[in-house]
Amino acid sequence: MMSSSTFPPIEKSPSCLKNEEEKREQDTILVVDDMPANLGVLSDFLRSHEFKVLIAKDGQAAVKKAEKAHPDLILLDIMMPIMDGFEACRILKSQATTKDIPVIFMTALADSVDKVKGFELGAADYITKPIQQEEVLARINNHISLRKLRCELEVRNMQLEKRNMEHQEARHIAEAANHAKNAFLATMSHELRTPLNAIIGYTDMLREDAQDSGMNDIVPDLNKITHAGKQLLDLIGDVLDIAKIESGKMETHLHAFSITQTLKEVETLFRPMLFQHKNQLQIKTSEHLGSMYSDEKKIRQMILNLLCNAAKFTKEGEIQLNVKHDEQQHLLLIEVRDTGIGIPPEKVNTIFQPFTQVDTSYSRQYDGSGLGLAICEHYCRLLGGCITVESHVNSGSVFSIQLPLSPN
Ligand code: ADP
Repeated sequence: MMSSSTFPPIEKSPSCLKNEEEKREQDTILVVDDMPANLGVLSDFLRSHEFKVLIAKDGQAAVKKAEKAHPDLILLDIMMPIMDGFEACRILKSQATTKDIPVIFMTALADSVDKVKGFELGAADYITKPIQQEEVLARINNHISLRKLRCELEVRNMQLEKRNMEHQEARHIAEAANHAKNAFLATMSHELRTPLNAIIGYTDMLREDAQDSGMNDIVPDLNKITHAGKQLLDLIGDVLDIAKIESGKMETHLHAFSITQTLKEVETLFRPMLFQHKNQLQIKTSEHLGSMYSDEKKIRQMILNLLCNAAKFTKEGEIQLNVKHDEQQHLLLIEVRDTGIGIPPEKVNTIFQPFTQVDTSYSRQYDGSGLGLAICEHYCRLLGGCITVESHVNSGSVFSIQLPLSPN
């Protein structure tokens, strides 16, 4: 059970809780009997066992005392003038302030009809007359502890319910915020793409004009504008993808395609990136890769992402793309190896989270948004596969993707 210190204080207490002043006192028993002799003997006995005793001589007086004093237990005789024990019990059990007080009927030994009726009216127990003092004591203690336990449970229950409501509320707020963020990103990304494409298009035209009119000295600057524009366009594309993924709106478009053909296209797109850091590329594939039934565009994007990262974080080194079938498990295995800077062990688990980069310093050496691997990881999961990494600082990294050759 959780310790009470882990729960916040509750605003509303269950009716069985005593107030602070009452808590410090002994347990209180209300004894109800019209026979003064019975009252005297029972009261003396209970007082001698550290109980505070209240007395009433008929049902009506008992109800009034119970409403006022909130005893911990009521010992209730049945046959009494003015109002009998059954009627008193019925009233007590019908009122919110007294319904939780355990009632023990005092009944004649042979009268089983009385006992049944008592239980039907909500009595906790009965004791038979003539009264055995030790039995009374055992039953009273039993019911008082039961009541305390029930009361404690009620408090815990209320606290858990309150916590539950708070958690639900917090979740709703977080979901709404996430939804708003994704909607904002999606709209902004669309709005940014149009002017950006215009900037890239007009820069291409200016470059052509400059070359035609012999103004070659401004061409390098125009190339820089194009490069920066394309980088920004890629970033916007990644942000849009992540927003779509997080809002559960990313769809897959499955069709059959030749794996070899896809790899050729990836190679054509990737080769120019090798020059920047003077890297070498090796592609190794199994002989008959054949075709697969999956989302080709996403697979192409994932392999390109991994290759671009390898090229970005490797200088004058070697990059390998290994692709093979695992025929037994009906899987395509893609591996991108490099001999670059590697990833420190404490960062390996975080690089698949959106916007996470190993080098977070203001003067970062490498371009990027920290979204590429997060997108790869989501795409892998979407296509029923997974992505893993093994890396050693200063000796290189291996990213491995496993994908089913067709959906199950
Ligand atoms: P980014 O756009 O920053 O490259 P990614 O999600 O693709 O975003 O990668 C996240 C981070 O993981 C990178 O910024 C880099 O720190 C690290 N990383 C990814 N691939 C490699 C690699 N091949 N070698 C070293 N570090 C890598």
